[in-house]
Amino acid sequence: MNIVHESFPVGPLQCNCTVIGDSVSGRGYVFDPGGNPERIMAAATRMGLHIEALIHTHAHLDHILAAGEISKQTGAKVCLHRDDLFLWNALEQQCALFGVPYTPVPAPNHWLEHNEELDLLHGCHGCCIHTPGHTPGSMSFHFAAAGLLIAGDTLFLGSVGRTDLPGGNTQQLVHSIQKRLYTLDEGTVVITGHGANTTLGHEMRNNAYVNIRS
Ligand SMILES: [Zn+2]
Ligand SMILES: [Zn+2]
Repeated sequence: MNIVHESFPVGPLQCNCTVIGDSVSGRGYVFDPGGNPERIMAAATRMGLHIEALIHTHAHLDHILAAGEISKQTGAKVCLHRDDLFLWNALEQQCALFGVPYTPVPAPNHWLEHNEELDLLHGCHGCCIHTPGHTPGSMSFHFAAAGLLIAGDTLFLGSVGRTDLPGGNTQQLVHSIQKRLYTLDEGTVVITGHGANTTLGHEMRNNAYVNIRS
């Protein structure tokens, strides 16, 4: 196993998209295809990966808008936690609310579960972590072998995701971070939903949004 990964901002709200895979087998995943499908496909091609699954940290528009185009080109599975289906189904309204052009997305055809293992990465236990709060179906993804956590809009450098949108819950968000993310190795690099990376250790010591509620 030889994990390669690349993250870059895409789409109308510059969500961090991650292409990750095994350079030996050529099997790859895209996390949060929020836009710019041609850029995502170019990264996958450059990395020598065939995209098998599109995995969404949650169903806000800025994390899912390229799912249709990429699944059409690759046949990749479309993966989501079931609790965010109401947001996925309301994509057109979300786009209207944020003034973003609407692009349809196909229905998800794989439901992510808490503690589900991503079969690409053998021996990487508990890769899918349900971290509700920003949305009810928010998920984080832990690649222990690579020391990497894809946290979506749950945890940011010095901040946390907003909880004032439909289905958001601040108490749940803080609980998810403390009980399900801060229990991982503190050297883990966090790829956040927007903006800079951080590490779990840095957030454990400095993130006031979580600390004042603990
Ligand atoms: Zn979001
Ligand atoms: Zn976002």
